[in-house]
Amino acid sequence: METTAAFVGLECIDCEASFDATEANGRCEECGGILDPTYDYDAVELDRETLAARPFDSMWRYEELLPFPRESAVTMDEGATPLVDCPTLADELGVGRLLIKDEGRNPTGTFKDRGQTAAMTAAVGHGASDVSLASAGNAGQSAAAYAGRADLDAHVFLPTRASHTMKAMVNVHGGDLTVVGGRIGDAGVAYDEAMADEDWHPLQTFVTPYRHEGKKTMFYEVAEQLEWEVPDAIVYPTGGGVGLIGMHKAARELRELGFTDGLPAMYAAQATGCAPIVEAFEEGKDVHDPVEHPDTICGGIEIPDPGASPWILEALRESGGGAVATTDEEILEAAIAVAQNEGVEMAPTCAAAASGAWKLAERGEFGTDDTVVILNTGTGNKEADVLRSHLMSQGI
Ligand SMILES: *Cc1c(COP(=O)(O)O)cnc(C)c1O
Ligand SMILES: [Zn+2]
Repeated sequence: METTAAFVGLECIDCEASFDATEANGRCEECGGILDPTYDYDAVELDRETLAARPFDSMWRYEELLPFPRESAVTMDEGATPLVDCPTLADELGVGRLLIKDEGRNPTGTFKDRGQTAAMTAAVGHGASDVSLASAGNAGQSAAAYAGRADLDAHVFLPTRASHTMKAMVNVHGGDLTVVGGRIGDAGVAYDEAMADEDWHPLQTFVTPYRHEGKKTMFYEVAEQLEWEVPDAIVYPTGGGVGLIGMHKAARELRELGFTDGLPAMYAAQATGCAPIVEAFEEGKDVHDPVEHPDTICGGIEIPDPGASPWILEALRESGGGAVATTDEEILEAAIAVAQNEGVEMAPTCAAAASGAWKLAERGEFGTDDTVVILNTGTGNKEADVLRSHLMSQGI
């Protein structure tokens, strides 16, 4: 497995045991904790000028801060997404600037591609022939696409609730699709059962150490697109918290490397029908209580038992951010308002970040000069039917 100069290896976030990346590919063998890629930041040979001279063409342009070199990556030039200025929304929220990081422009239409390019590169490095994961839908579609590109077999477990596009595209990419009755937890049980019998390489959230690592590039891009001014707030539609943890890690890295000053306040946006992070944050807890009966139209963030919650909550508190929940009705309204006023197409899951930002603004969380970034984690056209039927429910 080819690795970059500054990449050291994997460290358990709970017991701090370290592991060689050529050997470990899942959870900590000592305690079952999540493994996090670590670097020797003194060995990172990168500065703002070098980056400015590179084309803005892929998240792999930050390869010095990733575990694997670009030339070894299983990549479709994911990332390098636009940061779209939204002046009408900025006025409505009463902030200086509001920008949408539009992750819908990725190869399979969501930011899941950033995690899968990194995780699939590791799978190839480990000599895997088969990869597997359970997903609410987008990660499964993305994994099938990257596995096809790397000539690996992808075994994908999705719940019946996943959208038609996500399920169909797993097949189109040649993946082995198992549709499980129920929700993400049920798909997870089927995945666990299959993994007990098979020697498949795991691509599951926070089992592979590389999905949050790939997603951290979202913040590198935001910072560079803002000419290394750290935004005041980032509002993120939070399920397992992979992207939120990744971006917070990236913000700390850029500060350590002297590219930026300070950290953006990270805000987790969830749907009221499944808001374990918001509840834990508001109650001052360090770990969530699982939601017993999750129910929201936002499949991508309907994660009732997010195993990385201590890490998410730490990022929210360390960055001076917070957490906010809005109803499905508010979320759908926000998706439609953004589409009508700014043109950007947000899927319902992602619009939780828009409606969350609205609510945070109403609560007075933002200053009138603040720069606020909303993550549009995926394109609206994968779930256009859900958005259209909301209009129908209003007689439109
Ligand atoms: C997976 C997903 C999320 C949640 O991502 P996490 O980083 O695990 O919190 C949000 N939006 C979309 C569109 C997703 O597919
Ligand atoms: Zn451990």
